[in-house]
Amino acid sequence: MEEKSIFEMILDKELESEIIYEDEDIFSIKDINPIAPVHLLIIPKKRINTINDVSDEDTLLIGKMVQVAKNLAKKYEIDESGYRLIFNTNDDGGQSVYHIHLHLIGGEKLKW
Ligand code: AMP
Repeated sequence: MEEKSIFEMILDKELESEIIYEDEDIFSIKDINPIAPVHLLIIPKKRINTINDVSDEDTLLIGKMVQVAKNLAKKYEIDESGYRLIFNTNDDGGQSVYHIHLHLIGGEKLKW
């Protein structure tokens, strides 16, 4: 069987992390190595290794992740100032954790 991802270990309480949002499908944590004042990760509980592995049946889940990100942007008061949502994919994309996650980044003027 495939090894658990860091995010599955957090969800199973085998790794310490503050879960700032949770519902039946999705949870969110603060990135341990933030690149901006607000840097959250929106993560599906279902293990999907990369965006390449998203199937038709995951369409609603991916949409829900964006809805959760939007609501968290409002909660952290960066909805009006602006923010960025990013899925890094595979090596060139800078993916380091092979369990898809949406980065929500903001709180300052972002450089590309
Ligand atoms: P990516 O490089 O797109 O795969 O993003 C993985 C992110 O997970 C990185 O920004 C890491 O800083 C973050 N990360 C890794 N381990 C943890 C952890 N234990 N708690 C919170 N964030 C983490």
